[in-house]
Amino acid sequence: MAEQTESESRKLLGRLRDTLAEDTAGQARLDRIVELISSSMRTEVCSIYLFRDAETLELCATEGLNQEAVHQTRMKLGEGLVGRAARDGQVVNEADAPSARGFRYMPETGEEVFSSFCGVPINRLGDKLGVLVVQSREARAFSDDEVYALEVVAMVLAEMTELGAFVGEGEALRARHTNPMLFRGVAGQEGVAEGNVWLHEPRVVVTNPVADDPEAETKRLNDAVGQLRVSVDDMLKSVSNDPVDKDQRDVLEAFRMFANSRSWMRRMEEDIAAGLSAEAAVEKEQSMARTRLGKAPDPYLRERLQDLDDLSNRLLRILTGQGSETGADIPENPILVARTIGPAELLDFERGSLKGIVLEQGSVGSHAAIVARAWAIPLIVNAGDQITSEALNGDHIMVDGDQGIAHLRPDETVVGAFRDKIAMQAKAQERYAGLIELPAVTQDGTKIDLFMNAGLIAELPSLKNSGAEGVGLFRTELQFLARNTVPKRSELAAIYSRVLDAADGKRVVFRTLDIGSDKVLPYMKREDEPNPALGWRAIRVGLDKVGVMRMQLQALIRAANGRALTVMFPFVAQFDEFRAARQHLLDEIERERRLGHTLPEKVEIGTMLETPSIAFAPRQFFEMADFISIGGNDLKQFFFAADRENERVRRRYDTLNVSYLTFIEQIANRCAETGTPVSFCGEDAGRPIEAMCFAAMGLRSFSMRPASVGPVKHLLRRIDLAEVRAVIDRARESGVQSVRGDVMDWMRTQSS
Ligand code: PEP
Ligand code: MG
Repeated sequence: MAEQTESESRKLLGRLRDTLAEDTAGQARLDRIVELISSSMRTEVCSIYLFRDAETLELCATEGLNQEAVHQTRMKLGEGLVGRAARDGQVVNEADAPSARGFRYMPETGEEVFSSFCGVPINRLGDKLGVLVVQSREARAFSDDEVYALEVVAMVLAEMTELGAFVGEGEALRARHTNPMLFRGVAGQEGVAEGNVWLHEPRVVVTNPVADDPEAETKRLNDAVGQLRVSVDDMLKSVSNDPVDKDQRDVLEAFRMFANSRSWMRRMEEDIAAGLSAEAAVEKEQSMARTRLGKAPDPYLRERLQDLDDLSNRLLRILTGQGSETGADIPENPILVARTIGPAELLDFERGSLKGIVLEQGSVGSHAAIVARAWAIPLIVNAGDQITSEALNGDHIMVDGDQGIAHLRPDETVVGAFRDKIAMQAKAQERYAGLIELPAVTQDGTKIDLFMNAGLIAELPSLKNSGAEGVGLFRTELQFLARNTVPKRSELAAIYSRVLDAADGKRVVFRTLDIGSDKVLPYMKREDEPNPALGWRAIRVGLDKVGVMRMQLQALIRAANGRALTVMFPFVAQFDEFRAARQHLLDEIERERRLGHTLPEKVEIGTMLETPSIAFAPRQFFEMADFISIGGNDLKQFFFAADRENERVRRRYDTLNVSYLTFIEQIANRCAETGTPVSFCGEDAGRPIEAMCFAAMGLRSFSMRPASVGPVKHLLRRIDLAEVRAVIDRARESGVQSVRGDVMDWMRTQSS
């Protein structure tokens, strides 16, 4: 950029900054700004359009167009040249605007006399805020230097908008981060919660986008980049050459490439020369990259732009000294809002300290989801890529985990409706609380055993207040997932022992490590498998790598320390797998005996039934198993060949589908033949109607989320199993695909 333009640009930015210091209201400040820009850029017109809502731009200030048009002229995103610049996030530079593609004439503005048009989007880190426009009579295209100067100005305007510099009377000048917003994602864990936003990584606030001393700013930038390079190199050193770490190394290599990129540095130095502060320069380049990110069709390119984005965040944190630890106090009733979060970071929060979680990414089967489920707090995943930039720490937020919806800064009507829903749920909980001490006995006198699922020690207190008779499924993988290295035997033994202490004599079924598929241990070699859910997981890993399984079995025996021990193996697909796994446990008991350690007073060895194949195993399998637990989450996905993680197909097949219910009935019958106790521990056990139908098919034991015990018990105590069975049988004979409709019709006759 020419010397002359550079200092002009700096002068203009200095003046813009001065308007921030002046004691003027939003509109007056905007008016002053358009005047400054048009005189500095020597254009007859300068206008600022800001978003009134996500789809509508409004002319908020102008120098050169009719003043009456201010706050009157509006256009939709994509409409006219202004709308096009905003939609595409790209500069529109036309010498002869009226004949340009998409031009739309706005008669109230009096713009017909101006030929040339240059519209520059005002964006901040991917957020579309508005458009800065200059126009002149003379039909000429604006030069690259001029466009660049406008981009720098637009960057400063974006920062000013973010700081609330244009807030004043009038809807369009409302402060950013004040509008109510709704985010629609995927329900990861049911429940509703009201609270305040707690950002996992709060946004960096740039308080002064303009700087007077480019040399000092360039030095600050260089120092910060130097620091960044050292930290990236350190991170790279800490990652081994093991193929396990390949993904992490790839990302860090990309970081290093960007951190050493000359063109990235050069662009930021140019921005500083034009008058921006070092952090504003970083943000400007980051914003540009985000715009490209949104458009990149190639997944590889998108990933690399994402890396650049992460790196820019690190650089901003170094420059501003604002880290995740911003010193802000965690608000009351915090709802965690994050792009994504790992289980270890999540477990840093105490159980009960978070009221809900909203993630921009993530999936229903992610580790975060497992923890949220364990904590029984509402979770929304896949909430889109805006919430972390829209939400501010402390913002009021309502999370509806049933619908997968988050209301950020909700207005009064939403608050009212939402609180009604919370109150209704609380009332229902009260009703269930009255059932805690009562057994789940149906009207015809059949006793059903209700257990709870758990995975963390912190969940054990639910044993008392849910009314569960014990833990029907203790998922042991959480202790493995939350660490960076394999936990030691002594650590595991201590954890399991505390679980048994907390259960206070009630039955706890420990399921051995179920990893693979979506549950990937950070320290285990990650196999690239075409279908991980059908791949090397659970017992398959356990039997191939017996070291870890034996260590876990030893830990369990030692934790029992004379108490009863109940163990089951996950994902058994054929008899031999169960036989082999069971033998390992028997061998370990024998080994402990030889070592003179105290042995469990009683050992029960069971298995999960999660693959259709094992339902058809030889009779001897059923005789050998001390008990069987149907893992409906996996069983259903394999029965219907529909991935439980895939939103497209996950809900396609109804649990009350006749084929599936008949299959459950067959399993119950086979277990009855050999007298093998059978239970159901998949998510469906916690759904009252589903549990009722399974009970009608012959199951007498269920294990579910603690919060479901009350609702399931409530329903079971009201119904007669023989009647339900008759409804199901009639429906089955009628040829329907799912018995749900008939069952629901019958239910309605019951409640009236
Ligand atoms: C199941 O598959 O139903 C089950 C309980 O195991 P998980 O959900 O841990 O795979
Ligand atoms: Mg399973």
